[in-house]
Amino acid sequence: MKKTGLFGGTFDPVHNGHLAIGRAALRQLALDVLYFIPAASPPHKDERRITPFPHRVAMLRLAVAGEPRFVVSEVEGLRSGPSYTIDTLAHFRRSRERETEFFFLIGLDAFAEITTWKRYGELLHSASFVVINRPSHGCQSVASVVAGSFPDYEAEAEGVWKKEGSNRIYSLAMAPSPVSSSMVRQRLGRGEAVDDLLPPGVPAYLRQHRLLGAA
Ligand code: ATP
Repeated sequence: MKKTGLFGGTFDPVHNGHLAIGRAALRQLALDVLYFIPAASPPHKDERRITPFPHRVAMLRLAVAGEPRFVVSEVEGLRSGPSYTIDTLAHFRRSRERETEFFFLIGLDAFAEITTWKRYGELLHSASFVVINRPSHGCQSVASVVAGSFPDYEAEAEGVWKKEGSNRIYSLAMAPSPVSSSMVRQRLGRGEAVDDLLPPGVPAYLRQHRLLGAA
């Protein structure tokens, strides 16, 4: 069985926390490949303030350059309208052989709002969910989000929940990363350095294209 990870987000811009999550997921879940999937039109964010999709893709490509199992997917750029995860999961299921197990990575801040996602109850039919703790965002625990949003799931082991006939929910064990794209944008807005928060190549790209106020 091939194991494929899917990591959706706005990536405006991609930061070291995203890569740390990707590396922890590769290791702990023994993934064969991890797709970073930037949202062309994130349903939960104000589109006017988002860096154009091709720039976010280009920065992701720079960020994953050293890791052969990280791949950037532009699939959400091929669809019009809001980028819904349910449609992206359907795309990957259609395009891969049957013997692929999918793992969708999601930060706890986003998972805590999962009931606002399109057809959220069906998401787990297509992929297991892997939740990354994010103490900097002061969310409730993974266990309490599972209990509230997926009440028919029960604990199977420490950090694992299951329901008969559906995919599992996992809590990814990794040291928390306090980095966020908002933190990067705020620092840039104040004219501060961001090189320590970003993968190599990304700060220079931001400066070269004068994105997010980088100078
Ligand atoms: P913003 O600050 O603009 O909201 P972000 O840092 O959350 O951005 P996104 O691209 O929106 O970055 O995140 C993609 C996914 O990665 C989301 O599920 C988010 O919760 C998760 N994520 C991003 N950074 C972290 C982090 N440091 N720890 C845990 N999860 C994270």
